[in-house]
Amino acid sequence: MIIAIIIFVVLALGFLFYASYSIRAGIYLKSVCRIPTNEKVVALTFDDGPHPYQTPKVLDVLKEYNIPATFFCIGSKIAGNEEILHRMVQEGHSVGNHSYTHAPNFPLYPVRRMVKDLLLTQNTLEDLLQKDIHIFRPPFGVTNPTIAKATKRLGYKSIGWNIRSMDTSFSHPKVLKRIRKRLRPGSIILLHDRMSESDKLTREIVQLLRKENYRIIPLI
Ligand SMILES: [Zn+2]
Repeated sequence: MIIAIIIFVVLALGFLFYASYSIRAGIYLKSVCRIPTNEKVVALTFDDGPHPYQTPKVLDVLKEYNIPATFFCIGSKIAGNEEILHRMVQEGHSVGNHSYTHAPNFPLYPVRRMVKDLLLTQNTLEDLLQKDIHIFRPPFGVTNPTIAKATKRLGYKSIGWNIRSMDTSFSHPKVLKRIRKRLRPGSIILLHDRMSESDKLTREIVQLLRKENYRIIPLI
């Protein structure tokens, strides 16, 4: 009996962990995790910027290849980097909300605090860019009932991914291998412009995608 209870608790905790940490599971909140298509196209997404040095370098690479991307920005990083945000829009990229501070306890905020945090980011972006910001990527890709409620209340479209590049932990060859293995029509790739050498990695990914005959298209 005790063993059965332990197994049940372990399974229940495992399910809750999976439900919260797998953005693709869509258990609490439905997120767009791929582009619905059979064509060989993918979308690139960059989280956690703007970064004063790395983001412009990533933008340079995207410009060189004439490629669109989506940047999910952290509100508190915008001050001092306004020109980078303007450049994103001028060069045809999309900008989304990735919370104000990306705090580790963001998923545990009560709904009112969460809405306030997201609205502050949205208002900062909208005042600066003079355009509606309604796409949101949950920090850490974590979803739970509170995040679902806040997203719904604000009318956001939650954007996930189906290829986590692991660019914050793995070497470039390993990242490229992961992407090649998981590449499917309509894939959405998660990257981070804040990483050192993110520009170099972006170039390597673009070259890989070209070799595999994939086109890079806007997410929205
Ligand atoms: Zn993030």
